[in-house]
Amino acid sequence: MRNNYILKNGTILTMNENHEIFENYDILIQNNKIIKIAQEIVKEGSEIFDCSGLVIMPGLINTHTHVAMSYMKGLADDLDLHTWLTEHIWPVEQKMLDFEFVYNSSKHGVCEMIQNGITCFNDMYFYENATAKACNEIGIRAILGEGVVDFPMALHTGADSVLSFIRELHDEYKDCDLIDIAVAPHAVYTVGKESWKKSLALAKELDLLLHFHLSETEKENADFYEKNKISPTEMLNEIELLNHKSVAAHGVFLSDKDLAILGRSKTSIAVCTDSNLKLASGFAPINNYEKSGINWSIATDGVSSNNNLDLLEEASTTAKLHKALNHDPKFLDAEKMLRHCTIQAAKALHLDHEIGSIEVGKLADMIFIDLNQIQTQPLYNYYSQILYAMNSQQIKHVIINGKWIMRDKKFETVDENEVLKIANRYRKRLQ
Ligand SMILES: [Zn+2]
Repeated sequence: MRNNYILKNGTILTMNENHEIFENYDILIQNNKIIKIAQEIVKEGSEIFDCSGLVIMPGLINTHTHVAMSYMKGLADDLDLHTWLTEHIWPVEQKMLDFEFVYNSSKHGVCEMIQNGITCFNDMYFYENATAKACNEIGIRAILGEGVVDFPMALHTGADSVLSFIRELHDEYKDCDLIDIAVAPHAVYTVGKESWKKSLALAKELDLLLHFHLSETEKENADFYEKNKISPTEMLNEIELLNHKSVAAHGVFLSDKDLAILGRSKTSIAVCTDSNLKLASGFAPINNYEKSGINWSIATDGVSSNNNLDLLEEASTTAKLHKALNHDPKFLDAEKMLRHCTIQAAKALHLDHEIGSIEVGKLADMIFIDLNQIQTQPLYNYYSQILYAMNSQQIKHVIINGKWIMRDKKFETVDENEVLKIANRYRKRLQ
């Protein structure tokens, strides 16, 4: 048996359907699974970890990222989307993008996510084979979608070459515990209808998640409408893509008809508030998602438009922004927001049978928080302190797939100093 241990005397925020919190409970973990949750578990041969004073919750799930852009964080800020992309990001990508860059930059981003309590993320970028290597080495769970675009990019000559690359990646990782492969058509302004259809066909054939950007800016929607006389959502609905399991990032500009379509679909929306705020794109209509029955989750987007990978900060900002926008302080309470970073996010990825809550039979992905600090005391309500008061520095340990990835704030599977050294080397080349 690889793992066999008991987490003793923790406070467990389960995020289960009954919203249960267990104080002074134990969790028995064997291999990568949660076997038992009870008081005073005794099991011979199990290692014991004292968790008194710690809150244990499911690992956070980041449903939309471009993790390999970590080295582009802070390279250019305070610009409009077009200038930022064409004058800063794309030239760097053209010059720098290769396996080594993506591998190292992904490693950097994965370390930041782990420090922020993220144990699973849904990524879209290029050279996802390099990101897969980084994730596997560190031990984080990830759904990796090679970006489908209709023009030559990175390793590929166009959509067909990306799709065959995804097929190969899927083959390589189909037995891997940590890595799932997705099909990631970038957006309606970079992918034509035929390539959307081919992406859907591949996702259906291999039973993979689809991951794409949808209606992030007003301009992209207006341009699409002018050319096609229907909205991006209507086009994707027409080719029956939205009835396949998928995550749409942003979903800021959606008509009533779009909302109704998405409400009936198998598509979830990944809300990226900080990125939308920083690029002044607009506000995701979360109130309307709720009314239309659309599942939604919280995401950071790429770190170069955020500029961090802190999902709790993202959730806190989202809650406060939407209270203000809706003139309703009761909208999006603290517990609900944490559910949209855990179990609802797992639902978005169609992985809620395995992750997103602390329940017997699920995979052991969890984080340990020390709330016994000035910032989060006195403690009246766990959810409230975690969402509104806590600093991510209070995340002490992280377990993914039953394995200790961070213990006492130190990485167990990666050398932090080496990661920083390599980042500095790349800084000199990017400047
Ligand atoms: Zn994005």
